[in-house]
Amino acid sequence: MIFRTPGYYGKFRCIADKCTDNCCIGWEIDIDSETMDYYSSVGGSFGGRLKNSIKDGSFVLTEGERCPFLNSRNLCDIYTELGEAHLCQICTDHPRFYEWFGNVKEGGLGLCCEAAAKLILSEDMTLTETVIPDEDCDECDSGLYELLLSARDAIIKHLQNDSFPEAVCTMLDFGEELQFRIDNGDLTLPAWERTTQVETPDIQAIMEFYASLEPIDENWRPYMERCMAGEGRYCPEYEVYLRRIAVYSIFRFFMKGVFDGEILSRVKLAAVSAWMVGHLVLCEGRGADIAETAKNYSKEVEYSEKNLDALADAFYDEECFSTPRIMGMFADM
Ligand code: SF4
Repeated sequence: MIFRTPGYYGKFRCIADKCTDNCCIGWEIDIDSETMDYYSSVGGSFGGRLKNSIKDGSFVLTEGERCPFLNSRNLCDIYTELGEAHLCQICTDHPRFYEWFGNVKEGGLGLCCEAAAKLILSEDMTLTETVIPDEDCDECDSGLYELLLSARDAIIKHLQNDSFPEAVCTMLDFGEELQFRIDNGDLTLPAWERTTQVETPDIQAIMEFYASLEPIDENWRPYMERCMAGEGRYCPEYEVYLRRIAVYSIFRFFMKGVFDGEILSRVKLAAVSAWMVGHLVLCEGRGADIAETAKNYSKEVEYSEKNLDALADAFYDEECFSTPRIMGMFADM
């Protein structure tokens, strides 16, 4: 089968004890059944430690929500004692993500890891393909897959090459028309053109919505409340990075539409995420690190199914997330 990834995928290296926001802190870590079987078979004192540190299929976090195997030097004791091959699937994969479409597997790096965020923001995404052994996966609608693949290629090409943020607004028009066609059984690609009149954005409502999301990190709400006090505006100073964030989001989420026919909310997610990261960096002021801001945003928004679902609903239900108003976030109004 084909394995399609961004060009930077193979460059990722975990920075382990040098990481300032270790992914073994603050998350519930579920153990897959194969690894669980292996851990149950481990004997001796380390086997006892494993048994005492796992409950209901997850590691029992210690004070400060640390993984019980993360030692005082922020290194993993399972890695040291049993070897990399015996990490559970989630620890082996993180921050990589995968999606399967028939005989195609796609893989990428998640923005929620600080080493991955630096890579994602450091270069324009190019996609590469290699051939790998077949893996089990569900079939998908090949007609819709081909349409969405062409649509995603077009969006990425325009986001990377057209004037920005105009390309984001055209992407929203394109997403509206493509969703309309899919809903009506028309599997053809719309033109890349502007049609919608921009409306005045409601930044306050958007910030309040983000502040209401389930906090993954305890600092998220106070941070959002501080940022709500700032002036809400598009941040052209970071344009090259905002393009890359929009492209990352489209690569990661857009093709999921093959499974549910939903693409407009994913297009809006890419637009709003790029704007939000730029806005949060502006609020943080001079010296803010956009990779750090993007990482914190991704952690809160992209790594909670509940938050992603809430946003997907809000993109249809909340007036502040209407297409003309999102376009207004990028306009100099
Ligand atoms: S967040 Fe990324 S760099 Fe940090 S420990 Fe996890 S995988 Fe490594």
